[in-house]
Amino acid sequence: TVMGHVDHGKTSILDAIRQTKVAAGEAGGITQRVGAYQVEKNGKPITFIDTPGHEAFTAMRARGAQVTDVAVLVVAADDGVMPQTMEAIQHIKAAGVPMIVALNKIDKDNANPDRVKLELSEKGHVLIEEYGGDVPLVPVSAKEKKGLDELLEMILLVIEIADLKANPDKPAAGTIIDAHLERGRGPVATVLVQTGTLGVGDNFVIGTVFGKVRALMNEDGKKMQAAGPGQPAVVTGLPEVPNAGEILQVVESERAARTIALSRIESRRKVAQAAAPKQRLEDIYAALQQGGTKELNLVLKADSHGSVEALKGAITRIEDPQVRIRVIAEGVGDVGESDINLAAASDAFVVAFAVKVDNNAQTAAEQQKVEIRKYNVVYHLTEDIEKAIKGLYEPTFKQVYEGKAEVKVPIKVPKIGFIAGSQVTDGKLTRNSVAKVYRGKDLLIETKIAGLRRFKDDVREVAQGYECGIELDGFQDYQEGDVIEAYVLEQENP
Ligand code: GDP
Repeated sequence: TVMGHVDHGKTSILDAIRQTKVAAGEAGGITQRVGAYQVEKNGKPITFIDTPGHEAFTAMRARGAQVTDVAVLVVAADDGVMPQTMEAIQHIKAAGVPMIVALNKIDKDNANPDRVKLELSEKGHVLIEEYGGDVPLVPVSAKEKKGLDELLEMILLVIEIADLKANPDKPAAGTIIDAHLERGRGPVATVLVQTGTLGVGDNFVIGTVFGKVRALMNEDGKKMQAAGPGQPAVVTGLPEVPNAGEILQVVESERAARTIALSRIESRRKVAQAAAPKQRLEDIYAALQQGGTKELNLVLKADSHGSVEALKGAITRIEDPQVRIRVIAEGVGDVGESDINLAAASDAFVVAFAVKVDNNAQTAAEQQKVEIRKYNVVYHLTEDIEKAIKGLYEPTFKQVYEGKAEVKVPIKVPKIGFIAGSQVTDGKLTRNSVAKVYRGKDLLIETKIAGLRRFKDDVREVAQGYECGIELDGFQDYQEGDVIEAYVLEQENP
């Protein structure tokens, strides 16, 4: 894993090392980033985690996954030890992995290697070999592609000293490095195998879901039959998009996989049930008025791991003495039913950031009264939370056209009075949506659809082409030819 301060050249080093491989003619060009890649040096493979920075490293470590055997600390020779350099050093030390300093940008006129070495020991308490310590330092220039061979050789040397071992002859276990949803292929994840050998057809469990390896590919998109310890592999055949840092574990049968997944769901449910009843963002202020501190629980779903990290970062910066904001679950992909169930069980609301809410989830949310809030901009979320805390929150809604029906005949119904015997001529009508009744050009009333009937049955919605009975709130005076338009309310932010 390559870590260090922003702009010190982490991405440049990762790209430059990757290019050495392409230049060597081993691959026919880079297709896409999958979160990890392998290069060979002196006939030995080295796997690089392709997400620079310590966020990913820390997120994985927080889940108990240790994927890094060697950390490369990038420090720009013209800039020295900066705040994120310090953070990276702390993370590396906490993880207890060997460190190599890559002193980057040595091509620059204002590069000052000696100052950086001194800062490393004084500020960072990192003693390089030259100063009598045990941390190797390799001067490099990602821009001029200098020192990269030496860096790779140093990595091999450090690995040799660390004497790392793994057994390839057992069912595999590995860590999810990256995952996303792909059109046509479904959920796709990059797994870094850490023990055993992962093969096509293997049954596996990841957290509370299970699946079977449909195909394995390397980072160049080439099919693989198996991936051994230290090897990254792109896996298809997953039931949903897992989180980075989750562990994939191979088990002997589909039945065993199912059993393990179910028992994990059960124990999570028990933990979640221990939480309090549901709340809505609007209720926070009221609760605060009654005194005491309050917890605001969120289930985060976003379009990428990057967005998840950005949202979490923004949320942690909201400080309020009375409100503790907690992200109880996070993930990449559309909001699904399991997200709603979790939110319902833990009194949380769901944040859908640049993702959709699937139909089952929508229904579950309505039934369990779980609030889903959609955002595309990070600060709209933080703004809403801040407003809610201060009691300023007022949700605004807009009407979105859903469909319309033409009244054929008023029908008398016992106890209710008249309903409109109608035919849906466009779109659909849904119970509880906003109804506008037009007679010619005149808008007679704007009200709510109180009920919908097909023959004798109450229904939730009626689609185009069908006949139905429409009951409106506070209106009965229908005439043949009246048009009833239906609108659903959608929250406006954003
Ligand atoms: P990251 O934020 O640590 O990933 O840094 P980047 O790899 O994005 O690099 C930040 C900036 O430094 C970019 O403008 C790079 O072109 C530049 N840079 C990276 N490595 C070198 C280097 O060795 N020499 C010089 N002169 N510039 C570099």
